[in-house]
Amino acid sequence: MELNILNIAERIPTEADAYKFLEELRWGGSEPSCPHCGSIAAHYFLSTKDGAARKTRTGSLSQRRVWECKDCHKQFSVLTGTVMHGTKIPVRTWVFVIFELCSSKNGVAAREVERKYHLTPTTAWFLLHRIREAMRPGEPASLLTGRVVADETWVGGDPENRHGHTPRTGGQGHTDKTPVMSLVSRETGEVRSRVVANVSGRSLKAVLHENTDPKATHLQTDVAWAYKAIGKGYAQHTFVDHSAGEYVRDGAGTNQVENYFSQLKRSIDGTHHHVSHRHLGRYLAEFDFRHSTHRLSDTIRMETLIGRVAGRRLMYSDSRQGCRA
Ligand SMILES: [Zn+2]
Repeated sequence: MELNILNIAERIPTEADAYKFLEELRWGGSEPSCPHCGSIAAHYFLSTKDGAARKTRTGSLSQRRVWECKDCHKQFSVLTGTVMHGTKIPVRTWVFVIFELCSSKNGVAAREVERKYHLTPTTAWFLLHRIREAMRPGEPASLLTGRVVADETWVGGDPENRHGHTPRTGGQGHTDKTPVMSLVSRETGEVRSRVVANVSGRSLKAVLHENTDPKATHLQTDVAWAYKAIGKGYAQHTFVDHSAGEYVRDGAGTNQVENYFSQLKRSIDGTHHHVSHRHLGRYLAEFDFRHSTHRLSDTIRMETLIGRVAGRRLMYSDSRQGCRA
């Protein structure tokens, strides 16, 4: 059944139902393997099978569904080792917010999550960043091949300066915006965006070489001088000259990446208002994830994300320090 926010609410009336819902998405109804020792032996199930609340040591009722490994006897739940590990936020809230982030084109504002789910501003902010962390693709990613469109832009900055001068090259003019380079595969629709120190040929080339196989890639860009030099190392390079009114040449063009940039900027201006430089990488992960999976239904996108939450953790201190990309 195709998921929407209404039928999700009906499927998870209690916390125990939310655990079961995640178990189904993550483990597909089979017995989980132990996240501590990897054992795939059968597990004892500590919570009641029908999902009813069980008594904790202190006598209060808990709806957490906990498993115990037959081999190492350690306990775990569907949240263990994921971005939801150790959370104090209700699991139902996680499921709702994950779905909202998977199904909304422009993302979800922290203030909206705070108001809707009665969370503190810090908790709402952290919840969203933990989900974004799960959206980041695992390393190492394979190299893109075939037709790849590349371009760079400037995003973020103080809203006060938003309509001001936007330099196209590094070092010219003053800006508080951050340069971002994006690659879009025209074969699969996958998008990879990176914060770059500047838009010098060297920086752009480094991102391209980390993400593409030049011998098997048809690079498509605008006429920026940097790309002319970089393109020489590629199997094929087609560029379009926007200043000459040219947008497509022999079926090649930069439309895909420009559409991505306009969506990204619309969202940052309209939904988030301000995104600081140090957190931008995580917003890019969110936009890349949604854009890369735009051919999938909201349901499959959510399943994909739940599959990725395993093995990801983001401690509060890490999220405050910004991130890698
Ligand atoms: Zn174990």
